[in-house]
Formats: sequence, structure tokens, C-alpha cells
Amino acid sequence: MPANMLLWTCDRMGDIAGNQASFYSNAEDYWREVSPTVDGMLGGYGSISSIDINGSKAFLQKFLGVRGSQNNDGEEKTGSGVALDCGAGIGRITKRLLLPLFRTVDLVDVTQEFLDKAKAYLEEEGGRVGNYFCRGLQDFVPESGRYDVIWIQWVIGHLTDDHLVEFLRRCQKGLRPNGLIVIKDNVSYEGVVPDEVDSSVCRDLKIVHSLVDRAGLRIVHEEQQMNFPKEIYQVHTLALR
Ligand code: SAH
Repeated sequence: MPANMLLWTCDRMGDIAGNQASFYSNAEDYWREVSPTVDGMLGGYGSISSIDINGSKAFLQKFLGVRGSQNNDGEEKTGSGVALDCGAGIGRITKRLLLPLFRTVDLVDVTQEFLDKAKAYLEEEGGRVGNYFCRGLQDFVPESGRYDVIWIQWVIGHLTDDHLVEFLRRCQKGLRPNGLIVIKDNVSYEGVVPDEVDSSVCRDLKIVHSLVDRAGLRIVHEEQQMNFPKEIYQVHTLALR
């Protein structure tokens, strides 16, 4: 990256760290005004939800299997007991990806209105939701050893670098044996791109990798989501443990 970009990037994260309270409260204000619909969750791109979910299902199924079985690398398969949906919103991912694959799903989101809506949106299968946690991920502590999969999609840009690293560390403690953390999110072409509208940042892949590394996690698999509209950010999925 050009030197000036690096400088600008560092300045931006510095700015954000210095205005942490408003970085978070502006995001909360933004999401409180968003309609509790799939379209609202996806910033008007509700039409890509099926492509997204199908891509995620194929990604996740590489790791899931019957207890005790192994994959090609000789690694034990991930269990299908309990999943956590982080920044779950109304439960778009819980409904179509996680509830069909896991016995129990917990949701965590900072916006109470979305969690309220989830109870109706998830319909009957929502009976298998374990917990609805209304909390910012920067403050949330996953229960130790509870989760087979912790799914974190389209929300990491709402955390500062330090908070993301600390959250990922807490997630690792929340995993069961052979558990998996999955980040699926936008990546910028280069550097940190702030979004003043929803009070978030979009990081490039190199920065995301360095934060994952700082959290002491290993990338076990990574893919780019294909077939999304050309005008939106690239979306990458990372499996970590
Ligand atoms: N992951 C869901 C929703 C994406 S929209 C999906 O893909 O459908 C982003 C979600 O992040 C919103 O529900 C918003 O309320 C939530 N959010 C924003 N900042 C957050 C924070 N600091 N902690 C937890 N959730 C947050």
C-alpha cells in the first residue's frame, strides 16, 4: 500500500479509538432506525440473501460431520450441537443456515428491536433458540466451552481493532472441542475504509489476517463468496480456531 494510505489508515483507527464512545453509539443509533427485515439487514440487498446462505452452507458443511469422524486432513469434525449467531439482527442466518444444521442456536445483537422481531421471524423452529443476548460484541462474553460454531457475519466493522481481537479471544474460549469460529464479511481493496453512515469500517484482507493473528487464532480455511453483485465489496469467509 502507498505510504500515505498507511498513514491515513493508522490515523483513522487512531481517530476511532479516540472517539470510541461515539463510534459505538452512532452505530446503535443507525441500526435502531433500520427496518427489521432481510432487506434492512443487508442494506437494501435482500436479493443476495439466498446466494449468501447457500455459499455459507457449502462452506460450513466441509467441517460438520458425525461425531468422531475425520476430514481429509485427519482433523476431527465439528459438532452440530450449539451455534452462536453474532450480530444476528432478526436472525436471517439463524433461520436458514444455523437452525437447519444445529440443535440449538443462540443470538447476540446490540439492537433489541431486531431480537424482538427474530422471535416471530424464526417461526416454529425458533423454539430451538437457546438465548437471545442483547449486548454489543465488544462487551459480550460467550459462555466457556459452549459452542461448536460461532458465526460472525457483517458485523466486525462495528468493532475497533482492539475490541475485535479481544472478542475473538473470548470466542476461542467459548468453543467446544473441534469448534470453529467463522468470520464472513466485506473486505476493502486496500486499507481501512470508514463508513460514516452506519459508523463502521471496512478493512482489507491483510489487516483482517493480522487481527486474527493477534487474537492467537489460526485460519483453517478461507474462501471468497462468488456471484455477488459487482458493485459491492468483495466478501470473504474465514474459518478460524
Ligand atoms: N449478521 C446479520 C445482520 C447484519 S446487519 C445478517 O447477515 O443478516 C448488522 C447487525 O449488527 C445489526 O443487526 C446490528 O444491530 C448489529 N450490530 C451493530 N453493531 C454491533 C455491536 N457492536 N455488537 C453487536 N451487534 C452489533
